[in-house]
This record gives sequence, C-alpha cells and structure tokens, in this order.
Amino acid sequence: MDVFSADERSRIMGRIGGKNTRPELRVRKLLHALGYRFRIHRKDLPGTPDVVFPGRRAVIFVHGCFWHRHEGCPRATTPATNRDFWERKFRSNTKRDAERIEQLGRLGYRCLVVWECETKNLERLAERLTAFLRREDVPDGQTLRRR
Ligand SMILES: [Zn+2]
Repeated sequence: MDVFSADERSRIMGRIGGKNTRPELRVRKLLHALGYRFRIHRKDLPGTPDVVFPGRRAVIFVHGCFWHRHEGCPRATTPATNRDFWERKFRSNTKRDAERIEQLGRLGYRCLVVWECETKNLERLAERLTAFLRREDVPDGQTLRRR
C-alpha cells in the first residue's frame, strides 16, 4: 500500500533537509518586494536559518508542514505504515527545531516560523512578515546601539 500519490511523494522527498525550497523562495521574493534586506542560510547561526536580518537580530525559518509537524495542519499527516519510525523521526525534528529557536533566543535573535502552507496567501504572509519585522523598528536603546 502506498500512502502517497506520486505527486505528494515528490513534493515531500524534494523537501528533506532542502534549502531553497519553493516556499522559501516565495518568502524571500516577498521580503524583497517589501523592501527588506537580509542574508540567507547563515551557517554560523544555530540551524542555519533560512533568512537572517543581522541588524534586526531576527531570523525566519520556512518550514515544511509535513516534516516539521505544523500543528493542526492537514499536511502534517502521519504515514500509515512504519508508524513508529515516522513518529520517532517527527519527534526528533520538532525537538531539534525547538532547541534551535532556544539557542537563537539566547544569542539575542527573535525567530519567526513561516509554514509552507502560509506561503499560499501572499497578502496575509506579507502582513505577518511586516508585523514580525516592525517590532524591532521601535527605537529603543538596544536597537540604536546595534546599528
Ligand atoms: Zn501547514
């Protein structure tokens, strides 16, 4: 029994540990359009965040709903076969994700997770990204010192 259609399978397999995935490119393109400047895949930061705003001390992870277990999302299915394997795998993924966000927080970085399914509605995504990034625009002592 095959739990995935050919389409689903290629969508999922193409995403394993993938950088420059389509949802990620969509986020980057949108950030450009909104006028933000950023770096990508900074290997010196925990988890190699997909998008980094060094001046704002902010990072964005673009996560696939299946692998990173977007809670309540219809894409976060669990394959019917080898359930133990998948559940272990998913647990280790989400644990690692949480650890990275914690490590980044200790380094003074704010993190935003953008889920793959959230990159479908660009208008809403733009609002979300802007809200996240604007929080740092409020001038406070720390912000000024960093610039
Ligand atoms: Zn989702």
